[in-house]
Amino acid sequence: MNESANRRLMGKVALVTGAGRGIGRAIAEMFEREGATVIATARGAAHNLGPAVNYQQLDVASEAGWQSVVAGVVASHGRLDVLVNNAGIIGYEAPHELTLDSWNDVVATNQTGVWLGMREVIPSMQSGGGGSIINVSSIWGSVAVAGAHAYHASKGAVLNMSKNAAITYAQNNIRVNSLVPGFIETPLTDGQADEINKAVIANTPLGRAGATDEIAYGALFLASDESSFVTGAELVIDGGYLAQ
Ligand code: NAD
Repeated sequence: MNESANRRLMGKVALVTGAGRGIGRAIAEMFEREGATVIATARGAAHNLGPAVNYQQLDVASEAGWQSVVAGVVASHGRLDVLVNNAGIIGYEAPHELTLDSWNDVVATNQTGVWLGMREVIPSMQSGGGGSIINVSSIWGSVAVAGAHAYHASKGAVLNMSKNAAITYAQNNIRVNSLVPGFIETPLTDGQADEINKAVIANTPLGRAGATDEIAYGALFLASDESSFVTGAELVIDGGYLAQ
């Protein structure tokens, strides 16, 4: 059998947000290796992505940005099969410490960005006969650590927004799932206080941090036709953290 026939995303067009580094980058690169046409988007410049990865600038909090990028993808490729809403930021403030600006920043990227992305891609998925939307939440979307109030709020919202969209668009064969990472080594966690990192890893039954590819494999499953009966689900990849 020829090698390309085995690739799991052959013929699919996929857009990944926040793909300049970390989990999003690993997803974009794995999708490209698996045969997808990948539009990797990021807020700033993204260097050295694979040769077949098409990079575009996109701030997910920008309505006009989404409209222009999605219109461009549909004009160039005629379809959009997979959206990975991965871009995310964290703030560590407790409720009494948050300013309205810092709350709004986190919600704009993590929650409004996810909604805008879904809104913009759904019409082309409807007319194309279906699609797969993967919204990246977090273990902190369903259980708490102290602080990081806006992050918890936004990641919890993503879980329920995904279920709502799954039900709303099931008749269009558009599957919508949440991907729920535990502690993954990325520039985000590298920039986090050591005491938080040590505590989360200590509470991870497998006893270590996860790698970005361990999340990308979950995204690959949800993007591919192997998950054709999976919608409204939460795919937890967390070394056992949420099982406790
Ligand atoms: P990261 O900080 O390494 O990468 C996130 C990327 O998103 C960056 O490239 C950043 O520039 C981009 N981004 C931020 N705001 C944006 C915006 N408004 N528009 C476009 N791009 C924007 O983080 P990561 O660890 O790779 O996290 C990826 C996703 O996984 C996030 O949604 C994060 O909340 C989630 N997550 C990460 C972990 C972890 O342990 N690393 C755990 C659970 C969930």
